[in-house]
Amino acid sequence: MEIMNCRNCHKLFNYISGPMICPECKKKKEEKFQEVKEFIRKNPSKSISEVSKEMDVSVVQIETWIRQERLCFSKESGVTLGCEMCGAPIYTGRYCAQCKHKMVNHLGGMYEEKENKKAPTGHTKEKMRHLYGGER
Ligand SMILES: [Zn+2]
Ligand SMILES: [Zn+2]
Repeated sequence: MEIMNCRNCHKLFNYISGPMICPECKKKKEEKFQEVKEFIRKNPSKSISEVSKEMDVSVVQIETWIRQERLCFSKESGVTLGCEMCGAPIYTGRYCAQCKHKMVNHLGGMYEEKENKKAPTGHTKEKMRHLYGGER
């Protein structure tokens, strides 16, 4: 355990792991997240900047939550993030459905090649599901 300065309120606290913020700030942040989530649910047509302004949360913070798939904007909000692979508009997470699919296929393909050397009939589908699930 280390004594650290909270990056948010600069108070000293016992640092264990994760982001360098004190338990109080962590709790406040979590409460804020719940508020924002609720706000978006009630106002599905608000954009990120509107949510940011009205909820007093930074746009970066909101985007972080979206990337973590904790927040999901609806199509009506006009909110789009770019897929990190191809830049296609997405509403949550980091990659679009196509790129996710491609990645899974790519991994599945690599496995298939290896499998084929041993046995021609590999359980590729099972492997794909396994890989896909393990990614989260
Ligand atoms: Zn703090
Ligand atoms: Zn993509």
